Amino acid sequence: MSDGVAILGSTGSIGCSTLQVLARQRERFRVVALTAHSNAELLDRQAAEWQPAYVGLVNGGKRGSGPGTRGSGTSCLVEAATHPDVRIVVNGIVGAAGLEATLAALRAGKRVALANKETLVMAGELVTRAAREGGGEIVPVDSEHSAVLQCLAGRSPAELARLMLTASGGPFRTWTRDRIAAATVTEALQHPTWKMGKKITVDSATLVNKALEVIEAHFLFGLRYDAVEVVVHPQSVVHAFVEFVDGSVLAQVGFPTMELPILYALTHPARVPDAGTRRFDPVAAGSLTFEAVRAETYPAYGLGRAAAASGGTAPAAFNAANEVAVELFLEGSIRFGRIAETIARVLDAWRPADAGTLDAVLDADAEARRRAREAACS
Ligand code: NAD
Ligand code: MG
Repeated sequence: MSDGVAILGSTGSIGCSTLQVLARQRERFRVVALTAHSNAELLDRQAAEWQPAYVGLVNGGKRGSGPGTRGSGTSCLVEAATHPDVRIVVNGIVGAAGLEATLAALRAGKRVALANKETLVMAGELVTRAAREGGGEIVPVDSEHSAVLQCLAGRSPAELARLMLTASGGPFRTWTRDRIAAATVTEALQHPTWKMGKKITVDSATLVNKALEVIEAHFLFGLRYDAVEVVVHPQSVVHAFVEFVDGSVLAQVGFPTMELPILYALTHPARVPDAGTRRFDPVAAGSLTFEAVRAETYPAYGLGRAAAASGGTAPAAFNAANEVAVELFLEGSIRFGRIAETIARVLDAWRPADAGTLDAVLDADAEARRRAREAACS
């Protein structure tokens, strides 16, 4: 019997890669639900091909024909995530909008293959508690966290000493601070090694993405923040290093593709045959280099780490301020350097409160967004 899969954000980069993986694994998995924000045309094409039982479009009303139930508005995300025929929810939504569906899926006992790291950052306590209480499980899709999970197979948490997540360093790694501050949208969207949605591509240029991933790793693997380090690795071949208490280090390697971590999130802890991705070749990978994170190149990274250390609602405020600033940057309203400045202004005045309830998290998210808009435009 094949496992039912829901894909939230099926029209995005992660969603489309997931469907590519599933097209090769049709005897193991079937698509039960698909949701998208507003790309109705692509969603309709996907629904026609996959014939899911449920199709949801957040923005644009109930559309399309075909056998499946049609949902709309934000409630369609939870409906898809908790559909009785779904065992695995791939959450490929970008940003805070993915939170409720993750919580609902975990409470309903589903596996959440989580690409939507923003929601683990804003509500890590709530999300991990929902998994414990509902019997659901969070399996990371993020390549660095998938690498860690793969290195940890069969080990107990007490044997784990330290993680080193790799970062490509983005397109501005070798630029001066002044030149980076004035970078254009086109320049920021030129990622050297990964092809992804716009928001995460900008986050890779600021290194906010890596700060989000440090917080993600803290909640996924239960490590203190000083045991989660980051190293810049421009080739994106080593995805993470895992150090054990005896000093041994394991790494997971591969050419950059999200299809492997997505497949592993679906089949974990098992591995299944798959011929869809380019096999690794060390000679073709060539020289691998590693360097420390330069604080002056990536001011927003340090802000994210500081928010992590403050705890409570500070990571939610960091995430919300960044989401607002990136949106303003992408629409041409602020310059690149203003992203980190906006986050700094929101966090400078932030008093972290307890983040143990959904209301507290959503209030912090809304308040940080309001302050970020004010800070960015003043
Ligand atoms: P994307 O912009 O390509 O796709 C986002 C998807 O989310 C789209 O299908 C869109 O319809 C949906 N969506 C957007 N806003 C929504 C809303 N308000 N409500 C409901 N649905 C909404 O983004 P992406 O690159 O696929 O990234 C998705 C998530 O995965 C992000 O959290 C990102 O950080 C994470 N991630 C992506 C990659 C990658 O390679 N793309 C790698 C690691 C992690
Ligand atoms: Mg990543």
